[in-house]
Amino acid sequence: MDYEFLSPDTVAHYIRQRPELDGVINADLIDTVEEVGDGNLNLVFIIGDSAGNSVVLKQALPYVRLVGPEWPMTPQRAAKEANALSTHGRLVPELVPNTYFYDESRFIIGMEDLSEFRVWRGAMIDGLRHEGVAKDMGRYVAHVAFGTSILSVDAEKHKELVATAINPELSKITEDLVFTEPHDDIGRNEVLPANEADANEHAADSHMIDAMGEAKWMFMTKAEALIHGDLHTGSVMVRALSGDEGPAESRAFDSEFAFYGPVAFDLGALWANYTLSSARWTALGRDDLASWSLSLVDETWQSFEATFRALYPQRIDSRVWKDGTLDYLLEHWREETWLFAAAKMSRRIVGLAKVKDIETLEPSHREGAARGILRLARQVAQERKRTSDPQRFIELAGSILTENKTG
Ligand code: ADP
Ligand code: MG
Repeated sequence: MDYEFLSPDTVAHYIRQRPELDGVINADLIDTVEEVGDGNLNLVFIIGDSAGNSVVLKQALPYVRLVGPEWPMTPQRAAKEANALSTHGRLVPELVPNTYFYDESRFIIGMEDLSEFRVWRGAMIDGLRHEGVAKDMGRYVAHVAFGTSILSVDAEKHKELVATAINPELSKITEDLVFTEPHDDIGRNEVLPANEADANEHAADSHMIDAMGEAKWMFMTKAEALIHGDLHTGSVMVRALSGDEGPAESRAFDSEFAFYGPVAFDLGALWANYTLSSARWTALGRDDLASWSLSLVDETWQSFEATFRALYPQRIDSRVWKDGTLDYLLEHWREETWLFAAAKMSRRIVGLAKVKDIETLEPSHREGAARGILRLARQVAQERKRTSDPQRFIELAGSILTENKTG
């Protein structure tokens, strides 16, 4: 794969060639170029001009940036991200960064600069409460679920969209890292020595394996909606309306894992990351923040359900999709959310890509947080068959994380 990578020296020239950026930024007045890709995969440049305008250029490299050229990765993922950003942006413009263009020859997305925002995970780690973000994310997932499913899109057209959005290489990362490797280590898993026994128990738990088998099957077969595919708290940007915390606005970004998959996968990712945040605060003895993080589980679900119910009357086909189908969908998604949350939280403890909420804890604290998450995941995977009430999830998480606290 041969194409030119952007560099600080070439961005002005590049911007000059993009008519879509006329009026967005003035290439002759550029005075700042910053490469901020803290990410694992891509180049991200923030470019500003002296008139106070700015733009972000995100370019996919043909490999995993974190590892280097020895782990090749299709840059076509940028096309998947561009498609998801524009599709989702049409449905909920206020919750997605605006995109100006997609350059398919160099795998570059031109998008709105969100420098005034910060990544939600970092804010949560700093102990800041951005209010309303969990609710926004429930609303975002509901609009995506409704607006990209057969409830809103002509059946034949939908099949074409499903076909063009397939994202095999990125989906495989999820299939391997999230659903498989926690139970079949190929040498990429790692835990603290004090958690070896926990990880082994987790890996061998036959109920958990069956649950992950079910989750992986759904992930690979249920083409319900154009899901974000990686909706953790590092894929959400937040900005408090005033000061450092309190009521905030939010944007879901970095949707390069997008494909037509199960709606509950995005909800489960959110729940899992709220729970990881709660595990951090439990370990540090900040019960106020621990319960705040867990309260987001219910906030996201309630907002998802209310938004989806409100959209349902606009479906394009109501011949057999009556209120019975609405109840069926919500009931199944609620249970599946438990399952995907279990998958998403345990892989962050044992598998390759870990999260700062847990990794920045001292080992003495991390031990109990990790054990609590693994035990919770196993319990959640079983209990979802009895009840899938989000309040029950919160109770269960609160008690299991507290019981396993160390340090
Ligand atoms: P990757 O897929 O490589 O992880 P991301 O889309 O997550 O790339 O971007 C990496 C980082 O760059 C983000 O965590 C964020 O700090 C910054 N970033 C990404 N997009 C924007 C944007 N539109 N505005 C401002 N900063 C951004
Ligand atoms: Mg990212």
